[in-house]
Amino acid sequence: MMARTVPLEKRQPQPGQLVKITGIETLVCHARMRNWVFVKVTTNQPGLVGWGEATLEWHTRSVVGAVADLSELLIGEDPARVEYLWQMMWRQHFWHGNGIVRSTAIAGIDLALWDIVGKVHGVPCHKLWGGPVRDSIRLYCHLGGGKLESFYETPVDNAQQFADLARQALDDGFSAFKSMAVPPTMPIEGLRAVKAADACVSAMRDAVGDDIDIMVDCHARPSPAMGLQFARALDPYGLYFFEEPCWPESLEGLAAINAAVSTPIATGERLTHLAAFRDLFAARGCDVCQLDLTHCGGFTEGRRIAALADAYRIALAPHNPQGPVSTAASLEFGFSQPSYIICESVHQDVPWRQEVVDEGYVIDPRTRTVTANTRPGLGVTVNEEAIRKHPFEQEVVQRVFYRDGAVGDW
Ligand SMILES: [Mg+2]
Repeated sequence: MMARTVPLEKRQPQPGQLVKITGIETLVCHARMRNWVFVKVTTNQPGLVGWGEATLEWHTRSVVGAVADLSELLIGEDPARVEYLWQMMWRQHFWHGNGIVRSTAIAGIDLALWDIVGKVHGVPCHKLWGGPVRDSIRLYCHLGGGKLESFYETPVDNAQQFADLARQALDDGFSAFKSMAVPPTMPIEGLRAVKAADACVSAMRDAVGDDIDIMVDCHARPSPAMGLQFARALDPYGLYFFEEPCWPESLEGLAAINAAVSTPIATGERLTHLAAFRDLFAARGCDVCQLDLTHCGGFTEGRRIAALADAYRIALAPHNPQGPVSTAASLEFGFSQPSYIICESVHQDVPWRQEVVDEGYVIDPRTRTVTANTRPGLGVTVNEEAIRKHPFEQEVVQRVFYRDGAVGDW
């Protein structure tokens, strides 16, 4: 049968449909390194709104525009038909939703729709998907707690500072933390960079002992050849995982590195859709999947990716350095996904983080473990007044050049 095109204004409400989407707004909150983009879906039911997050650093205005474009498809629709609406957002208006801007906008709206569904049924999102699969979730932090300078700007020739920040993470209650102990390198370099990374990880391991989990993020800066050298050098330290050792486009490079070391390789934060994860998993490019729920189509696509990862017995550790709605989403996901191992968290990026969102989950500050949210949906109450105190500002421009002046990766 030929597909028919039905103009939006001619579409009749579904029989029995009471709830309708009346608006989709973005609220931008400048949080130093990033502008948090919160997505608010409003309905014709008094008080029934959904919250999502679509933060995409350095592309804030693009995402805000993409959410506005997508909202044209959704106004008047039933917010509880999440999969149907997701299909519309992904497939309609000709272009599929796999580019990072559109997939992030879709994700922000999708999370907000699931928040509404949870509120309609009076249960947290994870109870919509079969109920909690664990009692608690462990958080890990970045060195410095998300303070830009500590995490990104601690030089790798200062191993002592890595050790000091590692001890601080322990003092803050964390049993796992992530560092950027691998410096930017040209596609091929000599021994110095590898030895510097080795010294930093060695200092951190000496500082915290064997019971603490250390992660190293390469930010996809090394070439596959350099990524392999770093991975081999750091393998004896028993890292919890070694992240983005080369560009995500280089599936063969990721697979070669993953096969060469016993340290689990983690990647996936820059992939935006199911088929990209299929290719990554089939190549055996990682043992830890870092899907980002705010970039890969929200819970709807994220749950498909998780199911596929299960088929390969690949662990889930979602990427989550953004704002507090993203963290609430990652935790709802984690309480519903058996293969979820740990939640990335940021707690010291801005001092007013807690003013913006009141969360439903509870963190034990002694162990930095989380018990599940019991409020409906994502369990977040968003303070729009607090957001308005921090309007959009251009993100700090981050540019990296090699010592010969050629362009590098951040
Ligand atoms: Mg990363």
